Amino acid sequence: MKKLEEVLEMRTLVKLKEEMNEIEELVIVIDAINGFMVKGNLASPHIYHIVDGIADVLESTKNKKGVKKVFVQDYHSEDSTEFNVFLEHCKGDSESEIVDRLKPYVPGSLVFRKNSRNFMFAPGVIDLLFRLKNLKRVRLMGCCSDKCLGIDGAIPLINFFHELNRDVEVIVHEDLMDTYDYPGHEREMYNKISSDLMEQEGVKLVKTIGGVNNGK
Ligand SMILES: [Zn+2]
Repeated sequence: MKKLEEVLEMRTLVKLKEEMNEIEELVIVIDAINGFMVKGNLASPHIYHIVDGIADVLESTKNKKGVKKVFVQDYHSEDSTEFNVFLEHCKGDSESEIVDRLKPYVPGSLVFRKNSRNFMFAPGVIDLLFRLKNLKRVRLMGCCSDKCLGIDGAIPLINFFHELNRDVEVIVHEDLMDTYDYPGHEREMYNKISSDLMEQEGVKLVKTIGGVNNGK
């Protein structure tokens, strides 16, 4: 498990340490990156529409005390074993970059790079979760519902908190998630299955109306 000290830039780390005990909420944006939303082997035209809503949520949390924004990027090496399962994608190039619309929200946020579908395994994330002693809720949005965001994201996250007997609410903004459409992978069906499975696990699904405060 990598420590935050091994992952974050010094300035980001110092600021995080100052505010660590005040952080009660994480807003985590999963894979709002070019490689899934704009271009590349795994990009889908069905996902980008959630970006404006994500921007609204990030805007509404600007300067809000106790809320920390987190971006997660898919970020692979050339020899990534994930390419045994999926076509090559997001090899630390422009595909791994956060989409332009959300880039203004990156400064002041934490950015983690993952080499699998599960963001919790991204170097530094588990260390962050252990150190945020006063965390009360985590909000998740992004893609894909049935992969990195939901089934491989929100569900293992709630399992993690249960394992540690930590009462941390895991919230998914259902209108700010989506997945791709492909023969054998019917988008609406997979969104529905993802929502159902998350709900059964105790993930709270909300609709976003005008930002984070009204989404509860
Ligand atoms: Zn990947």
